[in-house]
Amino acid sequence: MNEKSIKNVISLSGGKDSTAMLLMMLEKNMPVDLILFCDTGKEFPAMLRHIDKLEKYVEYPIIRLKAEKEYDYYLYQHKAKSKKHSNDIGYGWPFSNGTNRWCTSKLKTDVINKHLRKFNKNYTVKQYIGIAADEPKRIKDKIYPLYDFGVTEKEALRYCYEKGFDWEGLYEIFDRVSCWCCPLQSIDNLRKLREHFPKLWDELIIMDKKTWNKFKADYTVEQLEMRFEFEEECKNIGMNIKGREFFKKLRILLNK
Ligand code: SF4
Repeated sequence: MNEKSIKNVISLSGGKDSTAMLLMMLEKNMPVDLILFCDTGKEFPAMLRHIDKLEKYVEYPIIRLKAEKEYDYYLYQHKAKSKKHSNDIGYGWPFSNGTNRWCTSKLKTDVINKHLRKFNKNYTVKQYIGIAADEPKRIKDKIYPLYDFGVTEKEALRYCYEKGFDWEGLYEIFDRVSCWCCPLQSIDNLRKLREHFPKLWDELIIMDKKTWNKFKADYTVEQLEMRFEFEEECKNIGMNIKGREFFKKLRILLNK
């Protein structure tokens, strides 16, 4: 029986780590057969432009994948199995939280796995994931070149900058770049989203109003808007926005 050929597949999120991984692998003449980028539909426009730029640079096609149904469909229209997990009439999944990340599976991993399934018959698929040496998350059956090269997150970013990739400044603003509407991002990143991308922030306020659950366990986007406005007022009068007094007043303002 003939041995199956190997298909080396790069999972490109487009962030600093997977970009550095791809560039380093090519630099080291490692085999690259397929580059997959999964667009969740909630990527920063600068990220999509980065993918175009990267594709030109590596002179290799980057396959853009997208789930059949979009983020907004799942958030507002998907028929949930139980009313506990949807609005009153049973539609719409909640924003993701620490224990339920439907968007990662529905909009990314399921889409990639479906695309790769067609190779299973004739190929052994090797999937390369861009996780840096100082990040803990790794799965057994995947390959993590940055970890093997001993490249940290900081080094990955510096390497990309040196190669001329700057994501139009996204990493100057955010410590992590993922979907702009991600509820799992920090309050600090959300504050920066509001400051630097006001149109996306306004869109997020509308998204949150249209869903039945809270954006974050402790905040709606509207409450965050109130908090950020209040922070600005307090800063103007010299109040410490990390101090006890600030949070006491914030709780009163938000009725918490
Ligand atoms: S980045 Fe956030 S919103 Fe986007 S797929 Fe991942 S968990 Fe979901």
